[in-house]
Amino acid sequence: MTEYSPLVFVVEDDLPIVKYLRMSLRTAGYRVIVATTATEAIAQTRSHNPDLLLVDLGLPDRDGIEVIEEVRGWSEMPIVVVSARGQEDSKIRALDAGADDYITKPFSPGELLARLRAALRRASYPENQQGSTTLDTGQIVIGECVIDLDHRSVIVNGEPVHLTPLEYRLLLYLAHHRGRVLTHRVILEHVWGPGSGDRTEYLRVFVAGLRRKLEPDPSRPRYLRTEIGVGYRLIEGGSDHRFRIVGTP
Ligand code: CA
Repeated sequence: MTEYSPLVFVVEDDLPIVKYLRMSLRTAGYRVIVATTATEAIAQTRSHNPDLLLVDLGLPDRDGIEVIEEVRGWSEMPIVVVSARGQEDSKIRALDAGADDYITKPFSPGELLARLRAALRRASYPENQQGSTTLDTGQIVIGECVIDLDHRSVIVNGEPVHLTPLEYRLLLYLAHHRGRVLTHRVILEHVWGPGSGDRTEYLRVFVAGLRRKLEPDPSRPRYLRTEIGVGYRLIEGGSDHRFRIVGTP
């Protein structure tokens, strides 16, 4: 374990579970810090700036969902929920609030570690693509659609397509996180700004607009996929089309 080992912030009030998580995570090479209440978690997340937040929903003072919402207000760090609540609506609420994944107790250590690795991998995906979090030059190619980042323009099948500034921002945000499921809330907060997280209807309208302009068949989206009850994901489409990032020198 070194100072470069990923730091996991465990938010959990059940002390035997805390002990178990601390041991399993340290053995797997993570650094671990712990908070046992939501208030403590909210107060400390910013100063610790962990690589991943592991949150229990049933906390003694406030609901774990509130921790997720608070952190999502300013950070895209991976958040994984560990909860005894196995119901569908509880999962949807956590994912809508901005959690990346959800593990139901009791869980196996193997499953937990695999989910954490996946969440950390997804979080570092944009950096891995070009060594930078911002791709503001070059092109992103998604099937027949080319986003020209230098000219802030979009070309579909060789023809320029007019996008409104908000449509362009939405497309760019999805493209920068392509392959990743993004919750309605996360998209809204990032594209429309803080406090917009509940405007799911608004997002639906813009997604429909983008599909009309970019998809070969907007009623059966190939690229801009709906993740029912969760959000959206921009994918490469068929095996004949692959994302390519072409950087300019
Ligand atoms: Ca608990």
